[in-house]
Amino acid sequence: MSFASRLPPELWCIAWETMPFADRVTVSHVSRHWRNIAIFCPLLWTHLDFFSTVHSSECDCDFCLYEDPISGEFVHTLNDPPGGTNRRLIAHVTRRSGKLPLSLNMFVGPFSTDMGLLEDFATDLCETGAADRLVSLRIAFDDQDALRSFLYTLHSLPALRTIFTEALPLPLEFRRSSDGHPWRNNYIDLPALQHMVLDSMCWKIILLDDDPSPTTITLPSLQSLVCELTDPEEVRLALDACPALQSLTVRVPPYYPNDYDSDAEFAWRLDAATKRRLSEIRRVAVTAVITVVSERWAIENFGGPLQRDVVLHYDTAYIPLHGFAVSRQLGDIHTFAVSTTTTRDIGPSFVCTMVDHTGSRRRIVFSTIHWRACIPRFLAAARPFIASLQVLQLTAGLVTHFLSQATPLSSLHTLVIFLGRADDLLLIADRLTQSLSRAVPSLSAVQLSAAAGQTVQVPVDVVASLLVCVRGVGPKVLKTLILDGVVLAGDLVVLDRHVADTVVM
Ligand SMILES: [Zn+2]
Repeated sequence: MSFASRLPPELWCIAWETMPFADRVTVSHVSRHWRNIAIFCPLLWTHLDFFSTVHSSECDCDFCLYEDPISGEFVHTLNDPPGGTNRRLIAHVTRRSGKLPLSLNMFVGPFSTDMGLLEDFATDLCETGAADRLVSLRIAFDDQDALRSFLYTLHSLPALRTIFTEALPLPLEFRRSSDGHPWRNNYIDLPALQHMVLDSMCWKIILLDDDPSPTTITLPSLQSLVCELTDPEEVRLALDACPALQSLTVRVPPYYPNDYDSDAEFAWRLDAATKRRLSEIRRVAVTAVITVVSERWAIENFGGPLQRDVVLHYDTAYIPLHGFAVSRQLGDIHTFAVSTTTTRDIGPSFVCTMVDHTGSRRRIVFSTIHWRACIPRFLAAARPFIASLQVLQLTAGLVTHFLSQATPLSSLHTLVIFLGRADDLLLIADRLTQSLSRAVPSLSAVQLSAAAGQTVQVPVDVVASLLVCVRGVGPKVLKTLILDGVVLAGDLVVLDRHVADTVVM
C-alpha cells in the first residue's frame, strides 16, 4: 500500500481545499482512489470558478465577421461562434457540494458575449438546487450585460449575501457608459443580499412592452452599495430599492480628457427631498473624483450639510481644490486628524478627517504626491475652528505644521502622533525649538501610535524631550502618555517628571 493511499481521506480534502478550482478538478481525475475521495468531499465543491468566452451570434469582432471577397460586405462566419465555457462542468460539480453554501466566481468575455449561455447556466443552477445555496457571486466581465443575463431566468437567490462585479479593462474605443446597462431587468427576490458592488451598470431597467412582470425591486437587507449614479432618477431608484442602506459609495464615471461632454455628465443636482433621503444613510462616499467639475458635483449632491458622514476620495491625477471646504458644513471641529493609508486605486494616500462635537464627520482621501499642495488647504480648513479643537491626530511629519506658539489651540486636550519610524519623534523635537506650553494650555494626553500591526521602538529620552517641548517644564505635568504599538527603550524613570501616568495599549 502506497503512502498516499494510507493517508485518511479527510487529510486529502484539507490539503485540496485551498487549491484553485481547476486544480481541484484535476485531482479528481488523477486516480480512481483520489476521485472517490474528491467527489465525496463536499467542501471541495463549494467555491466554483465558471467561465464563458463564447461570442454572441451578433458579435462583430474580427473572429466573428469576415469580408466576402466577392461582394466586399462583412458577413458572419457560418461556424459556431468562437470561445469556450465550463458551464456543464460547474453545473455537474455543484451536486457534489451537498447542502453546503456556495460561492461562485464568473469570468465572462468577450465584449459581446453569448447571453443565452449565461441564462442557461442560471437555469442549470436552479435545477440542481444550487441557486438556493448561493451566498456569494463575483462576476468579472467584458460585457456589461453579463450580470443581467445571468439573473434573467432566476426568480430568487434566497441565500445570496454578496454581489461583486468588475468590468475588465477595455481599450478606450470599446468603453461604454453605464447608461443603458441595467444590472437586472426582471424581478428577482434577493432577501438576504447585504453587499453589492455594481461596476459600469445602472439601476434603470429596459422597459419591454410585452413583459408584464413587476419591475420595482426591494433589497431589504442591503447595507452597503457601491455603484455609479448618473442622474437624479438613478439616485431615487437606488434609494427606493435599498431601505436599509447604511453605506453608499458613488463612483465617479470614467473621465475622458478629450471628450468635451464629460463635464456635462456632472451638471445635474439632486432636489431637497432626495438629499433628505440620502441623509438617512449613515455614510456616503464618492470615489475617483478627478476634475473640478466632478468635485463640485460630488460635494453638492452627496456631501451636503445634512449628511452625517461623508468621504471624498480623489483620483491620483487631481489635487483637492474645494474638498477641504466641506469643513464649513460642520458646526465646529472637535477632532482633526491626518493619517496615511494605502488604497487599491491611488496607492499611498493621506486621509484628512474632521469630526464635530455631534459626531458628524468629513473625510478627504488624496494621493500623498499632493501633500505639499494640500497642507495649506487643510490648515485653512481647520483655522476657523481652532478654538473648539479638542483632539488632534497627525502623522509625525505634520505636527510642526499645526503646533506653533503663534496658533494657540486653547481647548486641545489630546494630541495623537502617528509614527512610521523611530526617528520621526527626533525630527519633531528638532523642529520644535520653543516650548508649546502656552499654545496648548489644556493638553492633558499625548498618544504615540505605530501603524496597525507594527511596533516602533523609541528611546525614552526622545519621548521625554518631546513632552518638554509640548508641555514645558515645571509642575504642569501631562496627565497621560498613551503608547500604542510603541515600545520605549531606556529607563522609564526619566518620564516621571513629565507625565503622571503611562498607559500601554
Ligand atoms: Zn466575436
